Amino acid sequence: MHIEIDQDVCIGAGQCALTAPNVFTQDDDGFSTLLPGKEDGGGDPLVKEAARACPVHAITVKEATG
Ligand code: SF4
Repeated sequence: MHIEIDQDVCIGAGQCALTAPNVFTQDDDGFSTLLPGKEDGGGDPLVKEAARACPVHAITVKEATG
């Protein structure tokens, strides 16, 4: 799994960090960012929930293939 956050789209709603606090956090400006080492989601099943919860669909989750 690979997670991308489009910070140009993110409005800092914080839903991702609320939904999956072990993966997402908010930077000093309030925009979503990934916690260190969690670019792959860390196997957290809440990642997909967080992507769905984002009101502006700034989070893209790509499943690893193969
Ligand atoms: S839920 Fe979406 S808009 Fe809100 S902080 Fe996370 S990525 Fe940004």
